[in-house]
Amino acid sequence: MRIVLVGPPGAGKGTQAAYLAKNLSIPHISTGDLFRANISQGTALGKQAKAYMDAGNLVPDEVTIAMAKDRMEQPDAQGGFLLDGFPRNVSQAEALDEMLKAESMKLDAVLDLEVPEDEVVKRIAGRRVCRNESSHVFHVTYAPPKQEGVCDTCGGELYQRDDDREETVRKRLEVYHTQTEPIIDYYRSQGLVVTIAALGKVEEVTERAMSALRGDRAA
Ligand code: ADP
Ligand code: AMP
Repeated sequence: MRIVLVGPPGAGKGTQAAYLAKNLSIPHISTGDLFRANISQGTALGKQAKAYMDAGNLVPDEVTIAMAKDRMEQPDAQGGFLLDGFPRNVSQAEALDEMLKAESMKLDAVLDLEVPEDEVVKRIAGRRVCRNESSHVFHVTYAPPKQEGVCDTCGGELYQRDDDREETVRKRLEVYHTQTEPIIDYYRSQGLVVTIAALGKVEEVTERAMSALRGDRAA
């Protein structure tokens, strides 16, 4: 399956993606995680992306599309993938369509996670991620690690992302509404969107997502 996850920052895309990718045996591809890995490795791409990320803006399309394409061309993604955080505007969605069309492939579903804004703000405020691997995600109250400040999965140090500070979060939400939300209509016109309520326990949301995707596949 080729799936796109969409939803505001803090909706739980990365959290759900980890479970869904495992259940569906497809790789979880997060452009945010790829940028953060580049930043921690000190690559030219990471240096280029950092200023945009810290300001809560989107990294320019050219850079982002090339990075996403390169990742989707890896052998493990040939049988399908779960995209998290890409595409994030209509031109990226069009570029993805072109890429898939060139390989005679198409998306199976766009899973839209719906969460009220006040809940998103609480989720982001308490989010802590691992320095070794930013897909290892915790929350100070909703999903606390066994030992404070330490990643359960790999023992790495947990920290608050620079872009999870309040001022930047406001900007990221605005960017989501103005630039990313329009992709939902874009995909709706292709009949691909399934919307689920992403409130409640992580396992409940995963169950809702799996049944929405099963329904989508049967259709
Ligand atoms: P996104 O990838 O959409 O930005 P994350 O998956 O990183 O969002 O989740 C944001 C924060 O909310 C994390 O700290 C995560 O632990 C927490 N979280 C995710 N899903 C839930 C949930 N269903 N209930 C409560 N907290 C959640
Ligand atoms: P995320 O981890 O998905 O919250 O992304 C963190 C930041 O990385 C975003 O605020 C953007 O600055 C950047 N980013 C991630 N994905 C994209 C994308 N598809 N297009 C542009 N910028 C992105």
